[in-house]
Amino acid sequence: MVEAYTKVKSTNLKKDEKSMGLSAKQQKQIDDILHSNDYTDYRWIDPKKIIVAQWVRMKCMFGCGEYGHGGTCPPNTPSVSECERFFREYVDAIILHFAGKMQKPEDRHAWSARINAKLVKLERAVFLAGFERAFILFMDSCGFCKECTGARKTCDNPRMARPSPEAMAVDVYSTVRQVGYEISVRTDYDQKMDRYAFLMVY
Ligand code: SF4
Repeated sequence: MVEAYTKVKSTNLKKDEKSMGLSAKQQKQIDDILHSNDYTDYRWIDPKKIIVAQWVRMKCMFGCGEYGHGGTCPPNTPSVSECERFFREYVDAIILHFAGKMQKPEDRHAWSARINAKLVKLERAVFLAGFERAFILFMDSCGFCKECTGARKTCDNPRMARPSPEAMAVDVYSTVRQVGYEISVRTDYDQKMDRYAFLMVY
């Protein structure tokens, strides 16, 4: 009887520990992967603090020219409630910061594509280290192709393409400020941009 009780108790403890986030050893393992891939500007965040909001989706639907034209943008992404559910399935997350200043607006495309391609490799490295749910949300819309096909089924790089946090209805402004990052609305294209990618881990 005592043995059975002990067994149940230890199973529950494991579950509780899991829901509190990764262990210090697991976090160090991921920190090592990040550092070996030259990422130093990032912060850990409890996924419960990632703010998902309907207004973000409204901004995609009305006012953004990429709506319906980006293979990783709404309406090709899950509904807002499904996005909320997605974030609840993780115990830890990392916000990666990228700052850039463009000479001309068109330069942003190549800049983002280069960073996003490297981020897919980071996701894979974390996955191969045993974190099977590893999932990266890009720091900008995909940008891998000159002309996006605009749909998941016809995507030219389906294994590489990932949505951005905004496309997953994340209020990036309020979320990153919680961990001390700066972000503000830019009034001109040649101002410094602060972009953020999210690496979801379990
Ligand atoms: S990989 Fe190309 S086709 Fe696919 S979502 Fe990205 S830009 Fe669009």
